[in-house]
Amino acid sequence: MKLLDPSKPSLHVFDTLESEVRSYCRSFPTVFSRAKGYKLWDTAGNEYIDFFAGAGALNYGHNNTALKQKLVQYIQNDGVSHSLDMATEAKEQFLERFQKVILQPRGLSYKVQFPGPTGANSVESALKLARKVTGRSTVVGFTNAFHGMTLGALSVTGNKFKRRGAGVPLHHSVSMPYDGYLGSDVDTITYLESCIADTGSGISLPAAVIVETIQGEGGINEASIGWLQRLEKLCKASGILLIVDDVQMGCGRTGTFFSFEQAGIKPDIICLSKSIGGYGLPMALTLIAPELDIWEPGEHNGTFRGNNLAFITAAEALRYWESEQFTNEIMAKGDILRSKLLEITKSFPELQGEVRGRGLMQGIAFGISGLAERICERVFSKGLIMETSGTDSEVAKIMPPLVIDEEGLRKGLDILEQSVKEIAHEMKEQK
Ligand SMILES: *Cc1c(COP(=O)(O)O)cnc(C)c1O
Repeated sequence: MKLLDPSKPSLHVFDTLESEVRSYCRSFPTVFSRAKGYKLWDTAGNEYIDFFAGAGALNYGHNNTALKQKLVQYIQNDGVSHSLDMATEAKEQFLERFQKVILQPRGLSYKVQFPGPTGANSVESALKLARKVTGRSTVVGFTNAFHGMTLGALSVTGNKFKRRGAGVPLHHSVSMPYDGYLGSDVDTITYLESCIADTGSGISLPAAVIVETIQGEGGINEASIGWLQRLEKLCKASGILLIVDDVQMGCGRTGTFFSFEQAGIKPDIICLSKSIGGYGLPMALTLIAPELDIWEPGEHNGTFRGNNLAFITAAEALRYWESEQFTNEIMAKGDILRSKLLEITKSFPELQGEVRGRGLMQGIAFGISGLAERICERVFSKGLIMETSGTDSEVAKIMPPLVIDEEGLRKGLDILEQSVKEIAHEMKEQK
């Protein structure tokens, strides 16, 4: 494995003209120009394997050929591009396809809200609606949760650094321990249950609970099926709405279209974004149990709720979900990923690595501070794009496009293994 061309493109323009808030261009310091499938190229011609997939917005790969064809054709025909929430042919087709391919076969019944094009827009609309429906204000979020960067979404996000960015107190939310937060022998649902039932807990009856089935940003923490089922039961029994934020784990990331399918739960509200548009185009959905759809017309508005280009690619992307085959492929690739990660953690026990996640959302949590960041830096120098996750960036996270082939997956994993090996060796030398 050769190091990439050392004459990396300059980031001068970004360093001088773009705000200090920029982040990913610091982790991946080059200038990208082309992308296809699971590969990216920079302006110097270096090739990268993408184990990041736009933080989950590129599940179907960069410039997916079938999606691109539909999109180009639609643009060529002067199809409507922007339309607020007017009725358009593109939206009609998407709604019908989503009903037929996703909801109906799963026995799910939801009204579809287009809340604005981002995940945070979907979360905000879910929180508003839950408060409107119940007439209550408190929403329970979980430790290490991530729900987006707007004020409502931040109020149920765990990360201190991100919360502080709000600049105002984040109220009307309570943070509860996620599954496993207090160690494997503490049942955190029992704790939540007593907080809700006990008149002395200091916590008023919440409007809703918002949860991720796997915390993608928070360190690939996975809630067990039993925990999710008991959470649903507790919510139902207490008249609390259950919101599943499937913005990152949905659209097949864990194998099934929705990440909660394995648990067999039926959330009251579901947030989807990132890969729902299919082509990396901004789009989000809030799925609402029909009896909760008490919005007044225009009560949650937004200029960019009608991204028809995204509706076109979103409808086409649903082809992947017409049979079980795609799920089976994701699971099979997930198995390859898992066994390689286990092999790596076994080979280098001194790095204190723990494999986490499932499907094509997995990673290694390291017990040594700064190690995951160092690994991500090293793999980048060898042409692999991977990011860290967790409050202390302690997890090296692997989330390739779901359409990656076995060859690409193995190639990327070889770069990871080689990099871990080098770093383990360097650490020994330093001792
Ligand atoms: C990315 C993400 C969001 C926020 O989505 P944006 O489009 O960045 O606003 C919300 N929830 C989860 C779980 C996410 O991963």
